[in-house]
Amino acid sequence: MSQTIADTIHKLFVELHQNPELSNQEFETTKRLKSYLQKANIRILELGAKTGVIAEIGSGSPVLALRADIDALPIQEQTTCDYRSKNPDVMHACGHDVHASILMGAAYLLKAHEKDLKGTIRLLFQPAEENFSGALHFIEIGALKGVDAILGQHNNPNLTINQMASCAGPFSANVDRIEITVKGVGAHAARPETGIDPIVVGAQIVNAVQTISSRGVSGLDAVIVSITKFQGGNTWNVIPETVEMEGTVRTLTPDIRAKVKKLLKNIMENIASALGAQAELRWFDGPPSIINDAKWVEFAKQVAKHANYEIVDFKPQLGGEDFAHYLHHVPGAFINLGSQSPYAVHHPKFQLNRDMIMPAVKYLSELAKQALIQLAQDKK
Ligand SMILES: [Zn+2]
Ligand SMILES: [Zn+2]
Repeated sequence: MSQTIADTIHKLFVELHQNPELSNQEFETTKRLKSYLQKANIRILELGAKTGVIAEIGSGSPVLALRADIDALPIQEQTTCDYRSKNPDVMHACGHDVHASILMGAAYLLKAHEKDLKGTIRLLFQPAEENFSGALHFIEIGALKGVDAILGQHNNPNLTINQMASCAGPFSANVDRIEITVKGVGAHAARPETGIDPIVVGAQIVNAVQTISSRGVSGLDAVIVSITKFQGGNTWNVIPETVEMEGTVRTLTPDIRAKVKKLLKNIMENIASALGAQAELRWFDGPPSIINDAKWVEFAKQVAKHANYEIVDFKPQLGGEDFAHYLHHVPGAFINLGSQSPYAVHHPKFQLNRDMIMPAVKYLSELAKQALIQLAQDKK
């Protein structure tokens, strides 16, 4: 590979890392990515994205989409690296800077062999992954129009830079948010019998919902119910009227997601009613779980093996990833490549190993090229 591409992509990575922007505010990032695409004569599609860029290489059918996210997090960087964030309280702590750089590098390589491509590669530099709105926005403006399959990549700090991991089926969680209001009857703290104490009712609900994972579903089905906020009352001698709770429910499949929602509602309503109170559940659907296509996972692993990656086992995670939305429309796979950081993603000291970039660039471009050949064969 030409040294120029490697230098250019490292430069892009440093620039992105130094100039992180929050979800839906990736204006400078978008400009920068567009200028790098223009430098290589890569055609940009004007679909009306507020931030983020969609571009194409090659022509005709089939169409393979490659997606990288580009947004950063509201974190003050605490690394000592010489290319630290210049923006106070904003940091590329999830490595989306490296995702965008790798995709750009792959684009440069693919562009250099554009006439050999057996179809079109669509590049999605997607904004706003961290607040789970970017993929939906891209789908809405037509980013998947004509797309036959999609592949995406996230760095994994727990893997070394020569390791690749993925799995068929669920890969990430359904990430849902819940709010619960328990309504009782206020009273003097010395005469609880004249009221209905929502704090006592709420406490029992907090405990009882933990039985959902231990008694409501099979031990083999991953379920997390976390109540992360519990607020009620404002002084020591008054039983309040209401308690407000918030939390999150994580599951891996649509069936278990629906079952947990029903169990949660039943448990809290019935506990409240047994104690003379009322409880109301408000459930907010977050991104669904990534359901990887087994065929594409296997395909990505085979190409990774040829690119000298070590393939490691991967167990689904209960975090969220909005790439999942794309897989509701087209088949594909989401994979991890090792970034070997001593700190986890979203940590102020997260610092990935930059040596992951060029092997990943080569792998991703090879994966895209081969995937087009595979798609063309499938269409015959
Ligand atoms: Zn993140
Ligand atoms: Zn991320």
